[in-house]
Amino acid sequence: MVRKLAHEGIAHPDQIAALGAVERHRFVDSALVNQAYEDTSLPIGLGQTISKPSVVARMIELLLQGHEEEPVRVGRVLEVGTGCGYQAAVLGRLVREVYSIERLRGLHDKARQNLRPFRLANVHLLFGDGMQGYAKGAPYAGIIAAAGGNAVPQAWIDQLAVGGRIVAPMETASGQQALLVVDKLERGLKHSILEPVHFVPLKSGIA
Ligand code: SAH
Repeated sequence: MVRKLAHEGIAHPDQIAALGAVERHRFVDSALVNQAYEDTSLPIGLGQTISKPSVVARMIELLLQGHEEEPVRVGRVLEVGTGCGYQAAVLGRLVREVYSIERLRGLHDKARQNLRPFRLANVHLLFGDGMQGYAKGAPYAGIIAAAGGNAVPQAWIDQLAVGGRIVAPMETASGQQALLVVDKLERGLKHSILEPVHFVPLKSGIA
């Protein structure tokens, strides 16, 4: 799977190594293990899905753009939507600190179990509403969302460092979901809308 992603353009060696080191089959139910290395999203319970590996790779690549020389020097990253913890584990191998927040208690607990064997001391799992961000970890060099909303919450903008970047699925004017990149520059925000994607909805509150 990782070789295929590398072939399709995920070029950075550190990213290839991180994707290779995090065994995706450890994050899905035993009944789905034989599909774990296919480039598809898979159910992880409570109506949620583990993202498609090529999309995880693409979003992390966007998040780290400009830091290719030494991605591990990218400081703190906030992930909204821990799900099963797969993307958090990949990020943990690429950036200094990961704060990953999940609004569903059942998945937060599952991610904790899934991540234990990886012993990633720099990955911090939080239970709460990620639409509020996580102020205690701010400012973030990057914010990456695994669920799609209608607008970028103000908390994310406020908690992003100047020079930082948000990568998130977002509903566009046409009503479809696309990847949105927001760069926080000295002179203001720069928005770029990229390719269409299909993520579960970003919801407020906890459950
Ligand atoms: N990155 C995950 C993908 C999980 S799917 C992985 O690798 O498995 C997206 C997750 O976002 C779901 O678990 C959903 O419950 C969560 N989510 C949706 N809205 C949220 C919010 N406001 N705060 C935190 N998590 C949220």
